[in-house]
Amino acid sequence: MAHKTLCPYCGVGCGLEASPPAVPGKATNRDKEGRPIWKVMGDKSHPSSLGKVCVKGATISESLDKNRLKTPMMRESLDEPFRQVTWDEALKRIVGKIKTTRLVQGPHSICMYGSGQFQTEDYYIAQKLLKGCLKTNNFDANSRLCMSSAVSGYIQSLGSDGPPCCYDDLELTDCAFLIGTNTAECHPIIFNRLRVYHKKNKDVKLIVVDPRKTQTAEAADLHLAIKPGTDIDLMNGIAHLLHQWGLIDSVFIDEQTTGFVDYAQVIESYPPELVARNCGISVEDLQQAARWWGESKRVLSLWSMGLNQSSEGTAKNRTLINLHLMTGNIGKPGAGPFSLTGQPNAMGGREAGGLAHILPGYRLVKNEQHRREVEKFWGLTPGSINPQPGLSAWEMIQGLEQDRVGVLWIAATNPAVSMPDLERTKAALLRSPFTIYQDAYYPTETAEFAHVLLPAAQWSEKTGTMTNSERRVTLCPAFRPAPGSARADWEIFAEVGRRLGFEQQFDFADSEAVRNEFIQLTAHRPCEQRGITYEILRKEGPRQWPCAEGGEPQPRMYTDLRFNTPDGRARFAAFHSRGLAEPPDGEYPFVLTVGRLYGHWHTLTRTGRIDKIQKMHPEATIEVHPYDAEKLGITEGMMVEVRSRRGWCRFPAKITKNITKGTVFAPMHWGAMWGDRTEANMLTHPEACPTSGQPELKACAVRLIPV
Ligand code: SF4
Repeated sequence: MAHKTLCPYCGVGCGLEASPPAVPGKATNRDKEGRPIWKVMGDKSHPSSLGKVCVKGATISESLDKNRLKTPMMRESLDEPFRQVTWDEALKRIVGKIKTTRLVQGPHSICMYGSGQFQTEDYYIAQKLLKGCLKTNNFDANSRLCMSSAVSGYIQSLGSDGPPCCYDDLELTDCAFLIGTNTAECHPIIFNRLRVYHKKNKDVKLIVVDPRKTQTAEAADLHLAIKPGTDIDLMNGIAHLLHQWGLIDSVFIDEQTTGFVDYAQVIESYPPELVARNCGISVEDLQQAARWWGESKRVLSLWSMGLNQSSEGTAKNRTLINLHLMTGNIGKPGAGPFSLTGQPNAMGGREAGGLAHILPGYRLVKNEQHRREVEKFWGLTPGSINPQPGLSAWEMIQGLEQDRVGVLWIAATNPAVSMPDLERTKAALLRSPFTIYQDAYYPTETAEFAHVLLPAAQWSEKTGTMTNSERRVTLCPAFRPAPGSARADWEIFAEVGRRLGFEQQFDFADSEAVRNEFIQLTAHRPCEQRGITYEILRKEGPRQWPCAEGGEPQPRMYTDLRFNTPDGRARFAAFHSRGLAEPPDGEYPFVLTVGRLYGHWHTLTRTGRIDKIQKMHPEATIEVHPYDAEKLGITEGMMVEVRSRRGWCRFPAKITKNITKGTVFAPMHWGAMWGDRTEANMLTHPEACPTSGQPELKACAVRLIPV
């Protein structure tokens, strides 16, 4: 029997069908080493992907049994080898350490760094443990590095988080504006859908804004290869022209928004000649983009890390939303600002309160009423939840540097590869007095820094829900046994909670009971999900929120043009660009931008072990424009040392006109286990957006030295 589930890689959230290795009367599927493997195909009945999958989803089963952590392990100090222990021994040590650390250093010395790979149930129980029972908001997730600028942009402009669009909008738009996203490689199934529609409909316009000529840009009618860091100039320049030409929706602006007058003043100072010069594009191309924005009835924008991973990430998100508000392109089919999520369940994490400044049900830590609602629901005394946001991902690193962290619990993520400024990150991790690392895989780069290793069950081995970028929730059932004594993340958190004395708060029979509790906290909230129970998901299949009990799923938000602000109006916000946090200069004259490759996923814990994908992308290279290569005497394949103010790497050169002059590109996937000096995050810096706390992983200044 085939099991319907969701791909556990990216936020596109494609439906999968997994069939067992041995089917009566048929040969058993086996990998190269002879291990039986499950057959995985696209699920044609899943409404988000209609049976389509990319190479990652198609090969997922090949990674499931390799390099698994099967039993808890411990050591007293980092220079000792790990020894195998029982769960009881490991949990006793963890609980003892949490108790003494809280007593000696206070509740805020406990931190958890989680993951968009969690299922919603894992996220929810972690919030209850940390923010409720342990009284610290120090839970953050790797989603902080991925989409926290989109979260703050949506909250500030529209009154709450939540992408208002759905995938059907890809086939209903007149103009798709893709900025800071290599959708073709990073969200391939979404892009295929858009590409097919675009090809069939000659009147539909596709604009791509990216300093690289990516596969996404190659499909565009207009590619704006702007200089890194000039996104706000470009968008204000488009707004300037729309205003000047009268291509704005005055009725929408008057009735549904506030703040337009101040915004109009700011965009006045972005005339086309200045903007074109700043961005490094032609005035004609800028005008063309503005004309297509203004003349199209329905404009859909898509973005991901190019806007989010920036020291002005929130400002960039809000500047893009401004364009939608001034042209009335929101709350209707084929239109709206649609952020693409990186991780498979970063969306579910947002719903469950899985960042240091939020609480379940799209509530805010800083909002007193929100705190009281959650405390009451969790059976805690008023005042249990701290009114201040906890430490964000990079602040945890700083906390380690300042000896303010006594227990660091890392789960389902690999910060020793994915954090910025890796030399500094690793030095901070070495200072941690006690690190718990809970993961499915071993070895990993981060395991090197742990005192206790806890084996986690992963996708296919535990039952839970995940929400994809179009707010669609899919039930992902367990259909294979977990290896060794690995357990679901939520079960581990709940067991620790019970051992800390919170028996009642963590008395759950199974993950269905966890979800049943969580969805009550979404009642009458923007992410309402009481109509999305396991029972309904089993019967009806994947469902989008908002969906009230007994109600119908809503594919789009804000169709009534009422936003989640107190007065129901969306907010314009005006920003001038501050540019890159670390612009190029005489010593470091190039801008390094980092990103993902089509086949690989994050830090290679899975895709690095899949032969087909390894053959597709065998090594990390650095993309250099031929003009720059010639000036520096770099030839194709030559090793190039790349140095920033923080560290250095070495990559073979890939000379290509797909990158703009003065900019170089390296993939972010390779950690210390996979190559000699190919960790791109050795070079990046942690300067972050002051509102979202999302570091500017996308750009830093480097110099190139041929070796
Ligand atoms: Fe999985 Fe994303 Fe590929 Fe879909 S596009 S199969 S969700 S990795």
